[in-house]
Amino acid sequence: MAVLPEQVIYMDNNATTRIAPEVLDAMMPYLTRFYGNPSSMYTFGGQVGRAINQAREEVAGLLGAAPGEIVFTSCGTESDSTAILSAIQTNPEKNHLVTTKVEHPAVKNLCDNLEIFTGRKYHVTRLPVASDGTLDLQRFKDSLTDETAIVSVMWANNETGVLFPVEEMARIARERGILFHTDAVQAVGKIPIDLKQTAIDFLSLSGHKLHAPKGVGVLYVRKGTPYIPFLNGGHQEHGRRGGTENVASIVGLGRACALAAEKMAEENTRVRALRDKLEHGLLTAIPKSLRNGHPSQRLPNTANISFEYVEGEAILLHMNQANICASSGSACTSGSLEPSHVLRAMGVPFTAAHGSIRFSLSIYNTEQEVDFVLATLPGIIAKLRALSPFWEDK
Ligand code: PLP
Repeated sequence: MAVLPEQVIYMDNNATTRIAPEVLDAMMPYLTRFYGNPSSMYTFGGQVGRAINQAREEVAGLLGAAPGEIVFTSCGTESDSTAILSAIQTNPEKNHLVTTKVEHPAVKNLCDNLEIFTGRKYHVTRLPVASDGTLDLQRFKDSLTDETAIVSVMWANNETGVLFPVEEMARIARERGILFHTDAVQAVGKIPIDLKQTAIDFLSLSGHKLHAPKGVGVLYVRKGTPYIPFLNGGHQEHGRRGGTENVASIVGLGRACALAAEKMAEENTRVRALRDKLEHGLLTAIPKSLRNGHPSQRLPNTANISFEYVEGEAILLHMNQANICASSGSACTSGSLEPSHVLRAMGVPFTAAHGSIRFSLSIYNTEQEVDFVLATLPGIIAKLRALSPFWEDK
């Protein structure tokens, strides 16, 4: 039977978010009445082009960027690919990339494939993380060489919310003349960002993580950064990304960025307080539970908690029956339960990595919802542990 949205306690906002009502309102005219092609000469199309430019200004405003530095794309993944592939093409004499062991597959798999499909022309340094998910800056410095074409390091980790010091890393890369890209898909809208104050050359974001629709993203390209488009075609986006613009979604993303700028303080106070209440409540009520990730150096909305000696999938199934949506840190691949590469890189023990659950909140969550999860989850874990052969002796 279908589940209605109002029945659901949605705590999976790092996976995707609901479209804000204000965003939908802003989009509707561009899905209905104003359907002209923004590239057309006549006024009916030109006014659509102006709506895109207003969105460009709103996105730039949230990022502390200039509107001309904003390129609209189809998603965070496209933005990541565009930045990295551009950097290696504009630096044909270089053959080295630096990234981390905990990137999203959008960067991780691109780097893996660059090594494999170019017959190892490129080699990639994947920086390790400490047990709290943080990076070692000295190790980063030591990884840079004269051959490094680009550094790509996420601003915030999607599984644990741990923040990386990308501003400092970008400065270090700049001193060595190396381009710096950050996948900020999880950070934008949740923490303040002012690109003017940084040496970041490329930044990726995705609409559906900040209450805009799926299928729209942005690549920030710092003015003057050498750039080669990924999608070649028409002259859209000032020749930086071919393809007729996804107008309504772009307008929605602009509105979402303006809203995020307004609501950042709420995200940082009310959402953080809800997250802390949830996390503290679960860690206190459930024995052998532990937080994955640095206690303070992380996003305000994310809690990743391991419940030892139980399977994440089993927890999620029981949570699903209570209409609670969250994610597990393990993925069922080819019959074997593989714990997430992020938790493995942090050295989370096998018995804990398998039972990890990511709760990711948004401004739409309420205290009653947190109370409901706190009242429900301890019973689910106790029930599953009663069935677990690993738990018997504990
Ligand atoms: N990068 C990070 C850190 C993400 O969390 C995600 C989505 O989960 C992506 C990239 C991919 O974004 P999109 O779904 O827009 O391609």
